[in-house]
Amino acid sequence: MNCNILLIYKTLLDEYGPQGWWPVRRDAKSCVSAIRFEIAVGATLTQNTAWTNVEKAVDNLIILGLMDPKIIMDIDQDDLAKAIRSSGYYNQKAKKLKILTRFLMEGNFFQSGNIPARDDLLKLWGIGEETVDSILLYAYGVPVFVIDAYTRRIFERLGILNGGEQYKVIAGVITDSMEEDPDVYKEYHALVVRHGKEHCRKEPVCNSCVLKKYCKLGLSTD
Ligand code: SF4
Repeated sequence: MNCNILLIYKTLLDEYGPQGWWPVRRDAKSCVSAIRFEIAVGATLTQNTAWTNVEKAVDNLIILGLMDPKIIMDIDQDDLAKAIRSSGYYNQKAKKLKILTRFLMEGNFFQSGNIPARDDLLKLWGIGEETVDSILLYAYGVPVFVIDAYTRRIFERLGILNGGEQYKVIAGVITDSMEEDPDVYKEYHALVVRHGKEHCRKEPVCNSCVLKKYCKLGLSTD
């Protein structure tokens, strides 16, 4: 067992507390299928953009009454693109959303108990591993770890990764070091994102970082 990975999790959790992800924009009491859909939409829109831009796009879909899989399937792609403009790459993302939504609807994956297969999601146009795992973990509770740029950066700087490892290898390094628990995976990924935004930025803020004592790069800045 790699103690560092658990220790890092506990240190980040002590520092920041539970993050309550996924940050759905609608009332948390919305039905499971509505929350699943919003997570799938958010995970797609967040590709290559900041979350604040996604929030604007998701809010706009809600305000316009478009946050409904049947409507997304039927709406003209250009009109959908306009509605999600703030998320950037909106023409591509509109196409992705329509393809993903059709797949989830046709497979009855908004129904309780039905979970899409990772390999089938990965065959969809424009939906990569990070997006697929975000959907599986946060919308369906499947125990997969989401690897994003923050994960790579932080774990490389901590000396746990060498750099250049493939997505699957990184996910394995992390999940092999912990109990299989989707709730912990959800929290851990959210904490990594928080830490990447607040401290482990491109230009890291090491002096006040709680991970500094475990960090090759942080210690080298003394
Ligand atoms: S010490 Fe610096 S480089 Fe290391 S994790 Fe913290 S912010 Fe990142």
